[in-house]
Amino acid sequence: MIFERTIKYVLEQKKLEDTVFWGVLLLTFFSGIIACVLAIFENVGLGSIVFSFIALSIYICLGIIAKCTGRISACYFALCLVINVAVLPVLFFMCGGFDCGMILYCLMGIFLCSLYGHKKRRAFLIISTLVADVFSFSLAWAHPELLTPIDPVVKFYDTMISFVLLAISLYAVMAYFCAVYERERRKSKDLIKQLDYYSKRDPLTTLFNRRHFIKYLEQMIWPRRAGYYLLMYDIDNFKKVNDTYGHPFGDQVLCRVAEVALKEVRANVGECAVRYGGEEFIHLMYAESFDEAKVRAEQLRKAFENIKMEEQPDVCVTISGGIVDCMNPKFDHQNKMLSYVDSLLYLAKSNGKNQICSCK
Ligand code: GH3
Ligand code: MG
Ligand code: MG
Repeated sequence: MIFERTIKYVLEQKKLEDTVFWGVLLLTFFSGIIACVLAIFENVGLGSIVFSFIALSIYICLGIIAKCTGRISACYFALCLVINVAVLPVLFFMCGGFDCGMILYCLMGIFLCSLYGHKKRRAFLIISTLVADVFSFSLAWAHPELLTPIDPVVKFYDTMISFVLLAISLYAVMAYFCAVYERERRKSKDLIKQLDYYSKRDPLTTLFNRRHFIKYLEQMIWPRRAGYYLLMYDIDNFKKVNDTYGHPFGDQVLCRVAEVALKEVRANVGECAVRYGGEEFIHLMYAESFDEAKVRAEQLRKAFENIKMEEQPDVCVTISGGIVDCMNPKFDHQNKMLSYVDSLLYLAKSNGKNQICSCK
């Protein structure tokens, strides 16, 4: 239970560096306890016992400091220094030098440095670790009498155990990092997808917003605009709807209009429905001819007329609009087309509303 809770605590840290610190501290703490127990029972001398206890006390102190101050990065830095510059070089001499598994642990120490987050301090850690390791190895080579003599059978088992422990630790750490990387990658992919959706849509109606439409028109449609027709329309007397039935009801009307518009969209040929302003919409159509586009625009106008608001059956939704051929040579720029279609919309309003004006 305690073991499970500890692992959960380590894995559920908010920052990856914190998880790495607590994971490494946990490992060194347990290996420190094992070292203390072995030092006592194997009767390896007072020096080794004292050393093992000092190392264990340092790990515990670093854990307490990290927990109380929250300065995980500084504690991880100190932990790497203690392990690589003090503990491992001394253990190298105490455990028989090159012939045992200590050289593998030294490699593990370098790996721990590479997990430290700060670039410059990480370089310092790696360099000081390498200096300490190279110094210890050279000293052991020049003065083999400094190495504690170890029984060949013990050396063999020590090397084997060290190898297996190193392999398991490396595997666990790398598997954990791969899982974290994959999880973060998926999260950011989902987030980007969500942001992309919200940046293009109107939150009330979920139709495309004006910003996205302008970009879409400019980049995707305008260069190959043959066959495209632009219908701009505005709900008639909408202010009265709001004033009579309230804004929330007005919002419901806007949503119903958007629903009807969306049903008419053939996205596979590049068509789109847009909420261009408050109660002003655009329908970009693809058709064989301007006549076909005008027929479809008329059908859409009638579809809006047929909207029935269950809450207020007396409300009748009508629109006025204008439709243009995107290929019209008058439009040397898309903005010219937009202002022209807007003028047609106002013509429809002044002609008595509930109609669509067009111009070839
Ligand atoms: P016309 O027939 O000439 O278009 O008259 P109108 O009343 O529709 O036009 P007007 O421009 O006077 O009013 C448009 C109204 O649309 C005013 C504004 O409060 C309302 N409106 C704009 N956006 C929203 C919205 O998101 N929700 C609601 N409920 N109303 C909105
Ligand atoms: Mg209006
Ligand atoms: Mg308007």
